[in-house]
Amino acid sequence: MGGIYIHIPYCRKACTYCNFHFSTSMSTRPEFLKSLINEIESRPPYFKEVESIYFGGGTPSVLTAEELNDLLASLAKIYSWDKTAEITFEVNPDDISKEYVTMIRDVGINRLSIGVQSFFDEDLLFMNRSHNASQSKTAISLAKDAGIEQISIDLIYGIPGASHEKWEENIDTFLHLNVDHLSAYCLTVEEKTALHKQVEKGKVTLDDQHSYEQFSILINKLILNGYEQYEVSNFCRNGKTAKHNSSYWQSKPYMGFGPSAHSFNGTSRSWNVANNVKYNKAVNDGDPYFEEEILSLADRYNEYIMTGLRTKWGVSRNEISMVFGEDYLDFFEKELLNNRFRDFIQDKDGVITVLTAGKFYSDAIASSFFKIQSDD
Ligand code: SF4
Repeated sequence: MGGIYIHIPYCRKACTYCNFHFSTSMSTRPEFLKSLINEIESRPPYFKEVESIYFGGGTPSVLTAEELNDLLASLAKIYSWDKTAEITFEVNPDDISKEYVTMIRDVGINRLSIGVQSFFDEDLLFMNRSHNASQSKTAISLAKDAGIEQISIDLIYGIPGASHEKWEENIDTFLHLNVDHLSAYCLTVEEKTALHKQVEKGKVTLDDQHSYEQFSILINKLILNGYEQYEVSNFCRNGKTAKHNSSYWQSKPYMGFGPSAHSFNGTSRSWNVANNVKYNKAVNDGDPYFEEEILSLADRYNEYIMTGLRTKWGVSRNEISMVFGEDYLDFFEKELLNNRFRDFIQDKDGVITVLTAGKFYSDAIASSFFKIQSDD
């Protein structure tokens, strides 16, 4: 069993903070769909049974429902899934109409991840998003009316100049919309983005303390309203965790198709070329289009610690000992004994998790348990 990720590398506008692989030129798109189907049908599968399919990007909602149907039909030639499979489609609010959401539901989409980011137009303008706040509310309501089983929205905190009051209003709007899942990300400055240039020129300043305070506001409000923080950036109620993303955090195998997509088979990771023209050419000419690395035991241990400590499932002594061996468990115990983040760590029934107060520092806490040297 595993998960499938499909990368759709096109966007209508370039958001200022984004360093994902995408193009705002659609010139390669007709050939891309053929290449994508070629890759899906020619790549040796790591597994046949599928628990989750995730269309991400880029912007999957640039696809027509017919194109989406073709991609699912292509996947169905190689892989199988049943009614319980989670099939997620990322959408931008401006792409959603009553007809579109009905059509994508009818071809099999049962979960929508809607890129809202903020319910304030000035924030959306600052980030160069392609939609406005009113379109987001309409998109959520249309998705509900169409009976899409699961809806998630994305919000961004730590936006310069966005006060805590505004952030609280964003969260209140989310709560009012009665949606079961929220992914909330801190605005970060990535290399080669417009935001990076703005920061370098001194036009924009990001403030870690401001972000930390907004993260705390978020956690308090959501927990108070019955949501569970099951991963640092992800909250749900009614048990509606995202199956697909959870499979990444639980080290399950996945296959990724499309430019820049990553795959993992339990022992090695591969990543496709992050260039639409090169991807199309290589896939269609039968040339290599991905690089691959075999993960050492230390690499896999570090990943287990990093992803585990970000989630409510934590890391388990049993698993460390069974998968990585007693030496790794000894190493972990020594690091735990005098860990500088000890006050943020819970050690219960053989499982180590990061307490709510330490969630903002999860990555730093995880790295304090890393094996620096690859020893196998
Ligand atoms: S954030 Fe999403 S919509 Fe914006 S440029 Fe990146 S991939 Fe495209």
